[in-house]
Amino acid sequence: MTAIKPQPGIMDIALYVGGKSHVEGVTQVVKLSSNENPFGPSPAAQEAVKRAVHEMHRYPPTDHANLRAAIAEVHKLDAERIICGVGSDEIIAFLCQAYAGPGTEVLHTEHGFGMYRISALAAGATPVEVRERERVTDVDAILAGCTERTRLVFIANPNNPTGTMIGLAEIERLAEGIPPECLLVLDGAYAEYVEGYDGGAKLVEHRDNVVMTRTFSKLYGLGGLRVGWGYAPAEVIEVLNRVRGPFNLSNIALAAAEAAVRDSAYIEKCRSENARMRAWLSDALAEHGVPCDTSTANFVLARFADQAEAEACDLYLQKQGLIVRRVAGYKLPNCLRITVGDEPSCRQVAHNIGLFKAGAR
Ligand SMILES: *Cc1c(COP(=O)(O)O)cnc(C)c1O
Repeated sequence: MTAIKPQPGIMDIALYVGGKSHVEGVTQVVKLSSNENPFGPSPAAQEAVKRAVHEMHRYPPTDHANLRAAIAEVHKLDAERIICGVGSDEIIAFLCQAYAGPGTEVLHTEHGFGMYRISALAAGATPVEVRERERVTDVDAILAGCTERTRLVFIANPNNPTGTMIGLAEIERLAEGIPPECLLVLDGAYAEYVEGYDGGAKLVEHRDNVVMTRTFSKLYGLGGLRVGWGYAPAEVIEVLNRVRGPFNLSNIALAAAEAAVRDSAYIEKCRSENARMRAWLSDALAEHGVPCDTSTANFVLARFADQAEAEACDLYLQKQGLIVRRVAGYKLPNCLRITVGDEPSCRQVAHNIGLFKAGAR
């Protein structure tokens, strides 16, 4: 036995399992397992990457000033309170590293995003899971779950993989009720999909205990480049910048994200197309006897009779080259999460679920 051991908690981390992208023996697949934008990134972002290729020998800026200014302009925020990270996953990790640690607790909800637990354990903290109410965040349950050891409360709003969300009044009640030494983190990975919702940005500006995280991986179609950001009180930004690597984002990633956030016409088109196909898909599934909660994001959570039926349907879809996401790891064994793809993909997945429910195997 070696005397060399990792820190406590590290070996309790179960590796994150991403959405599948291949099926054995199938060459043409439709990937609906990772909530990616079916239309890809904006053409302006692609052009920006081509230009940035000529700067690969140069170190990137450490302050991300141009990208922060672009985000601030588009979202009408204060650039000084923005921090950029390698995906919003990195902002989640910074928060845990800086505010949690051995002897402290990090709260997340029953069907909450997997990175909260992973980052809490990586920081040596204890993740604490709180129940939801019928796949919806329950503010009272979270408040009841807080103790004097709680340092961070993570909620995704809209949540992944449920697609449900709670209103700003409920979020404000949560921010008001958590213990004084605790930060509320609003994960807004899907906030852009909700018309008129600011992800909680106003709350960040009016309180000292709320942080919002956002990403370029979903609506902006840049998951492969890894860019996310956080919006927080100035004191929190000062803390997070101390644990952030100075060159965490590449020139290419910065250039692409800046062009993407400024291309509001493209984003508007993607948002409305998602809303249209999301409604179509959940109606089509309901007609086949597969209910979904009302989704506010770019995926639906399809509920089957039981785990066996969900798994059989997943295998049937795979044989047709359709890859969706199993979510048993999110305590939803009878469900499959299906990303809203383009119209042909939505029609194909609904058609095949219909065939499956009619007895095809
Ligand atoms: C996809 C997703 C993220 C974003 O991760 P990135 O690191 O920005 O790619 C964050 N939170 C939730 C809930 C997500 O589903």
